[in-house]
Amino acid sequence: MTMRSVNPADETVHGTYEAPSDAELDAALDRSVDAHHALRAAGVRARVASMGEAARVIERRRDELAAIMTEEMGKTLASAKAEADKCALACRYYAEHGEAFLADEPVTIDEGSAYVAHLPLGPILAVMPWNFPFWQVVRFAAPALVAGNTGLLKHASNVPRCALALESVFEEAGFPEGAFQALLIGSKRVEGVLRDDRVKGATLTGSGPAGSAVARTAGDEIKPSVMELGGSDAYLVMPSADLDVAVAAAVQGRTQNNGQSCIAAKRFLVHADVYDAFKQRFVAAMAALEVGDPKAEGTDIGPLSLPGTRDDADDLVQDAIRAGAKRLTGAEIIEGPCGGKGYWYRPGILEGVTPDARAYKEELFGPVALLFRVPSLDAGIELANATDFGLGSAIFTQDEGEMQTAVRGLEAGATAINRIVASDPRLPFGGVKTSGYGRELARDGMMAFVNRKTVTRL
Ligand code: NDP
Repeated sequence: MTMRSVNPADETVHGTYEAPSDAELDAALDRSVDAHHALRAAGVRARVASMGEAARVIERRRDELAAIMTEEMGKTLASAKAEADKCALACRYYAEHGEAFLADEPVTIDEGSAYVAHLPLGPILAVMPWNFPFWQVVRFAAPALVAGNTGLLKHASNVPRCALALESVFEEAGFPEGAFQALLIGSKRVEGVLRDDRVKGATLTGSGPAGSAVARTAGDEIKPSVMELGGSDAYLVMPSADLDVAVAAAVQGRTQNNGQSCIAAKRFLVHADVYDAFKQRFVAAMAALEVGDPKAEGTDIGPLSLPGTRDDADDLVQDAIRAGAKRLTGAEIIEGPCGGKGYWYRPGILEGVTPDARAYKEELFGPVALLFRVPSLDAGIELANATDFGLGSAIFTQDEGEMQTAVRGLEAGATAINRIVASDPRLPFGGVKTSGYGRELARDGMMAFVNRKTVTRL
C-alpha cells in the first residue's frame, strides 16, 4: 500500500510513501520494546529532560512543521503555527510536572507502610486522525514517553509527512531510537499490531466505527485503551448572554480548523427571547468569513481535508434540507480559488433541522452550524442531550443559577461558560456516551498508561 500526501487546496501531490513490509513492522516493534527498556532504565529525570528538549525542537522548527500541516490537511497557516505552539506547551507541561505526577504516593494503613508506585507499561499504539495532526499525537505522546512508555503512531493515511515529522521531533529531542515511531500502515493492519504481545495498550482519536474496532480488539486482548471519538457539541445561548461574546464564540467554535474538530460547536440552542438578535448577527458574521488560500494572511477558512470529508458534510446538509431545514447562509460546495481543484466548502448555517434529519443526531464534520430556538433552559438541556455524543458543551449566560443547572444537566465531558470549548494541557480532556472513555491531558493523561502498583511493607 502506498500513502500519498495530497494538498487539499489544489490537489498537488507532495510525496508518496511505501508501507513497511511485515518484517519491517516486526523490527519496529522490537525497537519499541528495546527503547522502552532504555527509557525505563534512564529514569524520569532523563525523560523529562528529553521532553523539555522536544518543546524546544518544536519551537525551533515551528514554521516548517506548520507548513507541513497546512499543505497536508488544509488548516490555515496561522492555526497550524498555533497548533505547533500548543504542542510545545504540552511537552513543556509534562517536562515540568512529569516527575511529580509519577512520584510515589504514600498511603497510611493499619500496620506497616504502603505507597502507590507508577510504572510504565511498554509500547502503546496510537491511532490518530488528520484534523489536528500534531496536537492529537503530542497530547498522547508527551505524557506517555515521560512515563517511560514508547509510542507507535498509526497516523491517518492522508498525513504521512506529519507522522514522519513527529518521529523526527522526538528523535532530535534525544529520545532513544524507537521510542516514538511512525508506522505508515493502513487501518487493516492495526488489529495485528494491537494483538501483538509486545504492544501493551492503545489510544485512538477518530470516528465511532474506528473506535469500536480498536476498542473491541483491545477488550479482546485485555489491554487498556483510551477512546476520544466524535462529538456534536451544543452551545446554549440564554437571554442574559452578552451577544457579542456569544456570536464571536459561535463563529470561532464552529469554524475553527475549517469546521473539522471533535469539539467544534455544532448545534446552537438559542432562547426564544434572543433568538432573532443572535441569528441576525451570527448569519452576518458567518457570511463575512474569508474562504481562500490557507497560507495567505487574512484567510479564515481553507479547504476541507479530504473529498470524502467535504462530501459527507454536504450529504448531511442536503438531507437536512430535504427534510425541511432552511439554509440561512453558505453551506455549499464551492469552486474555491484554485480553478476547481481542491475540496472547498462555504461555511454556513441551517435553521429548522427536524428530528428525522441525519444531522439532528449525527456529527456534522464541516463548517455548518445548526440553529435551534428553545423556550427555556430545561428544553435547551434536553435538546443538547438528545444525541448519542457527549464530548463538549457550552452555555452563554450571566445567571449563576443557569450556569450551575447547565453544568449539572449537560451530558458531556466538558462545559464551558461564556467561552468556547478548548483543550488545555492542564485540564483533563475526554467524553462520555459514544464520545469515548478515558481522559487525556493533565495528570489523568499520564495515568492512562501506567501501572499504579500498590506496594505494602511490614
Ligand atoms: P477515522 O476514524 O476513519 O480515522 C481516524 C484514524 O483511525 C485514522 O488513523 C484511520 O486510519 C484509523 N482507522 C479508521 N478505521 C479503522 C479501523 N477499522 N481500525 C483501525 N483503525 C482505523 O476518521 P476519518 O478521518 O475517516 O473521519 C471520519 C469521521 O470521523 C469524521 O467525519 C468525524 O466524524 C470523525 N473524526 C473525529 C475526529 C475527532 O477528533 N474526534 C477526528 C477525525 C475524524 P486511515 O486513515 O488509514 O483510515
